[in-house]
Amino acid sequence: MLPRLPILGFETHRILTGYVHGSLNLAWQGDPVTPAMKITPAPRSVTTGDAQVPRSGHAPLPWVADAFAALAGLGLAVTLALVITGETRGSLAAPGGWLIAGGRFAGLTGAYLMLVLVVLIARLPWLERAVGQDRLVLWHRRIGPWVLILITAHVVLITLGYSKLAKVGPLHQLWVFLSSYPDLLAAAAGFCLVIMAGVTSIRIARRRIKYETWWVVHLYMYLALSLAFAHQIVTGGSFIGHPLTRAIWITMWTATAGMVIVFRILQPIGRSLRHQLKVSFVREEAPGVFSVVCSGRRLDRLAVSGGQFFQWRFFTKELWWHAHPYSISALPSPPYIRLTVKGLGDQSRAVSQLKPGTRVGIEGPYGAFTHHARSSDRVVLIGAGVGLTPLRALLEDLPPWVAVSVIVRASTAKEIVHRDEVVDLVEQRGGRFHEIIGSREKVRFDSRVLQRLEPDIASSDVYVCGPEGFSKRVMVAAQKLGVHRDNIHHEAFTF
Ligand SMILES: Cc1cc2nc3c(=O)[nH]c(=O)nc-3n(C[C@H](O)[C@H](O)[C@H](O)COP(=O)(O)OP(=O)(O)OC[C@H]3O[C@@H](n4cnc5c(N)ncnc54)[C@H](O)[C@@H]3O)c2cc1C
Repeated sequence: MLPRLPILGFETHRILTGYVHGSLNLAWQGDPVTPAMKITPAPRSVTTGDAQVPRSGHAPLPWVADAFAALAGLGLAVTLALVITGETRGSLAAPGGWLIAGGRFAGLTGAYLMLVLVVLIARLPWLERAVGQDRLVLWHRRIGPWVLILITAHVVLITLGYSKLAKVGPLHQLWVFLSSYPDLLAAAAGFCLVIMAGVTSIRIARRRIKYETWWVVHLYMYLALSLAFAHQIVTGGSFIGHPLTRAIWITMWTATAGMVIVFRILQPIGRSLRHQLKVSFVREEAPGVFSVVCSGRRLDRLAVSGGQFFQWRFFTKELWWHAHPYSISALPSPPYIRLTVKGLGDQSRAVSQLKPGTRVGIEGPYGAFTHHARSSDRVVLIGAGVGLTPLRALLEDLPPWVAVSVIVRASTAKEIVHRDEVVDLVEQRGGRFHEIIGSREKVRFDSRVLQRLEPDIASSDVYVCGPEGFSKRVMVAAQKLGVHRDNIHHEAFTF
């Protein structure tokens, strides 16, 4: 038996006083029932004398996304201005002049968009909180193909343009570039790496390769960027003889590299060293689902909101080199913090075997799936499977005046992760708790059922987390019942 920690606050009391607790089990009873129970709110967490109060997560700044978009637009305008001012009538009139100008345009725009791609996944905390990592990754994916197209067009157009200028064949010109310009050889290697990252990101290929392989290939993108940088500055027509242009470009690249170094490397190392997390114990919560309770120092200083996630790195021989995203399944209760993991692949299954004392590194917190996203004081949390974990922490973090309903979907009751904790938290707030249990074939969960459970859902914020198909159906049902798109908040467990 794993020990139970007295000060975690994961277990609360149920004392009867005057709130309504609704429970629905369609599989067992065929129709909604709402048995009334009288309940008193229990303390949010049971603490010992020396326990510290956890720090609230930072609220997102609403203007950050707009400021980022404006800055990205300004950067694009500056880049285009660099291309235009770098051309003269004479250079355009020369043989291959328009091809070369087109090649420069494609190259500089592609390189600029590559910087935007990097910034999107540089884990800038303000941007992460305002937009959410899932949306940032989506934008990254949308821009990615354009970078590939532009860089390829750059290579083709510049080669064709210079071959016309030198009156030689394109292949000969390519050979001249590679053999006589050392920076171009490095840039060509960078180009191959960009192509490799692009190809492995195509959906069909991405599905067939392991996440870790894809990740390592993507790491080479940083190498590709450094290899490409020198040739832009040394041979780029827009930079030769234009010191100001060169200074602006160098500043943009250095700033981007700085962001990656600070937010993807130094900050996670600093945070991990500061909190010194170690596995305290691992406990099975539902079949194949394990919670990992870690203890650490100064967790009262770790600002995290319920619903957010970290990239977790477990320092064992097999797992140290890859970090995986897992939501916190409860607010930190210093000196403890908890995540709950369903074993699906190599890393998530290995989590159940973690030994007490294993060191843990964290990167984050990330994500916008928090109470800050809501715009009303009525909230409906809907979860299935391991998707309940962020909802469990979010529930704990909602301001006390917010009216809460929780709807849980599962095939069998014992699959409901942290059921007792969720029920207790709902009871403390006098909220409503519904369970929909049974196989998908026998027990449907659609807009009709949702309306019966939550007739006022249209005026609520809806938070959804669960398997992709489930989440999509819930979001469609909620919209059908009049919930505004902006009031539906979804956390996906795959990027
Ligand atoms: C924001 C977020 C929060 C999550 N929270 C939880 C949670 O609280 N509990 C839980 O059990 N699971 C959670 N997950 C899912 C969890 O990250 C994956 O199940 C886990 O990483 C699978 O890794 P694996 O090596 O075991 O399996 P693999 O077979 O390697 O991967 C299975 C799938 O998981 C995805 N995946 C793997 N590694 C990563 C990664 N580093 N980053 C993004 N996606 C990855 C891939 O799309 C892959 O197809 C969350 C995912 C995200 C994106």
